[in-house]
Amino acid sequence: MHGKTVAIIGGGPAGLMAADVLSAAGLTVTVYEAMPTVARKFLMAGKSGLNITHAEDYDGFVTRFGHAQSKLQSALDDFTPAMLRDWALSLGQETFTGTSGRVFPVAMKASPLLRAWLSRLNAQGVEIKTRHRWAGFDGNALVFQAPSGDVTVEQGTVLLALGGASWPKLGSDAAWVPWLRQKGIAINDFQPANCGFDLEWSDHFRGRFAGAPVKSVVTTSQAGRFEGEFVVTRHGIEGSLVYAHSAALRDAFQRTDRPTLMVDLAPGRMQQRLTHDLERHPRKDSLSNRLRKAAGLSPVKVALLRERRPELSAMSAFDIAALIKALPIAVTSARPIAEAISSAGGIDWREIDQRYMLKSMPGIFAAGEMLDWEAPTGGYLLTACFATGKAAAKGIIDMLGHTR
Ligand SMILES: Cc1cc2nc3c(=O)[nH]c(=O)nc-3n(C[C@H](O)[C@H](O)[C@H](O)COP(=O)(O)OP(=O)(O)OC[C@H]3O[C@@H](n4cnc5c(N)ncnc54)[C@H](O)[C@@H]3O)c2cc1C
Repeated sequence: MHGKTVAIIGGGPAGLMAADVLSAAGLTVTVYEAMPTVARKFLMAGKSGLNITHAEDYDGFVTRFGHAQSKLQSALDDFTPAMLRDWALSLGQETFTGTSGRVFPVAMKASPLLRAWLSRLNAQGVEIKTRHRWAGFDGNALVFQAPSGDVTVEQGTVLLALGGASWPKLGSDAAWVPWLRQKGIAINDFQPANCGFDLEWSDHFRGRFAGAPVKSVVTTSQAGRFEGEFVVTRHGIEGSLVYAHSAALRDAFQRTDRPTLMVDLAPGRMQQRLTHDLERHPRKDSLSNRLRKAAGLSPVKVALLRERRPELSAMSAFDIAALIKALPIAVTSARPIAEAISSAGGIDWREIDQRYMLKSMPGIFAAGEMLDWEAPTGGYLLTACFATGKAAAKGIIDMLGHTR
């Protein structure tokens, strides 16, 4: 493999994983990264606890990728959650399983893992050129904007690992979409995934409760029934429970004008019991106090009921109990993709062969979130980015005729 070189564009989890596998196999690897440092989104992911994978049963794990499961399956089989944890351990990062099955490094942050990883890549001879923004093709050559001016690199073998379209300020701004489309590559429009939603709050509710967690609740949509918590924001709602429904709510906009989340504000209590407790509570007490004391609702839950049903005080105990068990919250739009945790859309799978190479552009491979798949939060996103980075690297090795 001596003398065989690979250019990787994009220094996120997918690109760095490919660099790891390729350099370990003896190839000469250069990573081109637009930002002053690599893996900014990965580091951001670690800010609130790096949820690196999930410990659920593997048969269930792979179903989280929805329509893309069959496309991703072989990459995931070759980099399972258990293998990912071993890989993290090889970088000195022990992992643990949280109560929800989510897996985190013991250090919780991404930075110790990234430091160890970059040091290994350096030892394996990987060259990382930061502040090198790929700006498209000049004929068959790649053009980069660098501090010293434009740099042209003869194409050779290339892995594109440019990420999706969420949080563009961290580097993945999807600027590459038109360049590949001009080459005839089908790319499905990016849409927000794992995102918050807008809805109309009154000024009073917004002023008092923006930032408040609503817990613990059970929410239902076409995505299914999930228990957890969400957060009231100035614009609407967000948080892991909302993200679990986000693909279903987002897609529902194409069918109805007001997708709705049904919220059970008192998951531990039967409707009949709630009716009974509300009826028994002294009528002279205010409605808010009755809801708090008899139904056990927190102030934000009481306010949510009042916000959605201003006529609440005129309703019977039976109807109020029914509403507590199934409060419809209609959303008006998804929050912008720039705020979403991840994106749906990207390079259409029909463009990619089994080696993760673009069928119509031999020698050019793609991996990570720039491919058209989506998954909920829970460590699935990073697992698939690592797995496709590894799969594309093995595809490159295969193409270059390398035998391990
Ligand atoms: C706030 C937040 C929290 C998250 N938390 C989690 C979590 O806990 N668990 C989880 O599984 N996932 C999480 N994710 C998602 C996860 O971080 C991403 O799915 C993952 O980083 C995508 O990896 P990638 O390598 O495909 O792309 P990216 O990480 O986006 O990397 C792409 C790289 O390409 C570079 N690039 C883009 N364009 C160019 C260009 N023209 N030239 C050169 N370089 C370019 C970018 O600067 C970037 O460094 C989180 C995301 C966010 C925003």
